[in-house]
Amino acid sequence: MNTADIRADGRYVLCWLQQALRARDNPVIDASIRLGNDLGLPVLVYHGLREDYPYASDRLHRFILGASRDLALDCRQRGLACAQHVDRADAREKGLVYRLAADSAAMFVEDQPTFVARWQSERVADRTEVAMFAVNAACVVPPALLGDGIGSTTAFRRKHEAVRADWLAIADLPAAVAAYDGPLPFTSDRLEACSDADLDSLVESAAIDHSLALSPDFPAGRDGALTKLERLMDIVLRTYGTTRNDATKPVGASMFSPYLHFGVIGPREVMATVDATDAPAAAKAKFADELLTWREWFHYQARALPSPERYDRVSEWARETLAAHATDPRPEVETLADLLNGTTRDETWNACQRQFLIDGWMHNNLRMYWAKRIIALTPDPETAWATACYLNDRLSLDGRDPSTYGNIAASFGAGSPGRDGPPIYGKVPTRSDGSTRHRDGGPEWLRDAATRTAREPTLPSSLPSGLYLSGELPI
Ligand SMILES: Cc1cc2nc3c(=O)[nH]c(=O)nc-3n(C[C@H](O)[C@H](O)[C@H](O)COP(=O)(O)OP(=O)(O)OC[C@H]3O[C@@H](n4cnc5c(N)ncnc54)[C@H](O)[C@@H]3O)c2cc1C
Repeated sequence: MNTADIRADGRYVLCWLQQALRARDNPVIDASIRLGNDLGLPVLVYHGLREDYPYASDRLHRFILGASRDLALDCRQRGLACAQHVDRADAREKGLVYRLAADSAAMFVEDQPTFVARWQSERVADRTEVAMFAVNAACVVPPALLGDGIGSTTAFRRKHEAVRADWLAIADLPAAVAAYDGPLPFTSDRLEACSDADLDSLVESAAIDHSLALSPDFPAGRDGALTKLERLMDIVLRTYGTTRNDATKPVGASMFSPYLHFGVIGPREVMATVDATDAPAAAKAKFADELLTWREWFHYQARALPSPERYDRVSEWARETLAAHATDPRPEVETLADLLNGTTRDETWNACQRQFLIDGWMHNNLRMYWAKRIIALTPDPETAWATACYLNDRLSLDGRDPSTYGNIAASFGAGSPGRDGPPIYGKVPTRSDGSTRHRDGGPEWLRDAATRTAREPTLPSSLPSGLYLSGELPI
């Protein structure tokens, strides 16, 4: 990421993790170990958590802290030292990454194409005098190796499938040097010694949004991910090909995305387990296409964009047609409060939004309807984009991800334009709620889902449009 040289006199190789919060099957750690073994140096894994990242809330903070605790425990098992810092009123640290880097031979970070992990890594790379390397830990096949300019999912799938097996076969690299036990420029928080109650107290005392409760469906940490993996093997995969699109069935989807987003589990471990099971071949292939083709396609796309979070990443024809219809009458516009709380006049939309609000996750089949409808429920297309990203990023555990912005952009118009028809949408295809409403029991399911009791989160004074439209990035 910069031109600095590797320094053989460092105390360790620094592995700074921001989002890939796992000790095994983690290519950033493996790359650090490879250099450490070459130099005869130990690896120091570091994870820090601040209070001021966008949308910091009980929901996100607790999920991250649970993952970080397991990262430390599993690093120890792997023979690696792990330093952690949870920034808080009585333990403030400034420039910790730079201070840790100063004692290192080189620093490895994640090659993450969106949000804080990208912004911070790029900023540190500009300012540090330590050699800094980015390694992809989110995907099976590192998007950088697929070459530039792949223009369609079909072409992407073809290229990805050709090399997939090689990348799925990679194993963890053993560290040849004993765990680092030398000096650190700060006193590390030992999250591995924290109980659940300790982590809850850290969250309670943090200066973050306390109005967004944890999601009972997604317990933090590796055990949460492994429970979902067992559920995938025992229940979900058997019918994945036929029930995946049915939001009314609780067993249709894997519910993996929060764990994948925070890297609690990697796609390689998930695929190894899926491949080893005796589920129907068609179901396995469908799952692989979602996890490997679609997910990695959005990572690939985001990596090529200077700001994947912004409205100008929506295809040009879609922005043009939406702009041409921006002054169409919009009788369905809702307030931000009604959108946030899922109390609009659209029952189906409320059912979708309450999954985000209460569960911190939404079923795939509902998401396309949810995103497209926002175009009619807000005053203009740019506000629609900022609102969709804001709701997805603040409420959903898997938000702030390449898949967030790629899928919302696809909902706003991808591929070829349709015929210029409906008001407000122009050439952007609309979507009905038929795939849920017309199922057996669909109307009842939607009515119940739209009226689930939800606690009201705090209402912002305005949308954080700087993140999504133009202006300075916050960190
Ligand atoms: C408007 C909209 C917004 C979305 N926002 C997000 C988001 O913020 N974060 C996110 O991870 N996904 C997002 N998706 C993609 C997809 O809806 C979720 O990944 C999926 O619903 C997560 O549930 P699951 O883990 O049960 O998925 P499953 O159906 O079990 O699929 C397994 C895995 O495949 C991947 N996957 C499935 N569908 C897609 C897809 N369309 N695009 C990319 N990867 C996919 C996910 O990693 C998922 O965990 C969005 C889709 C839409 C249409």
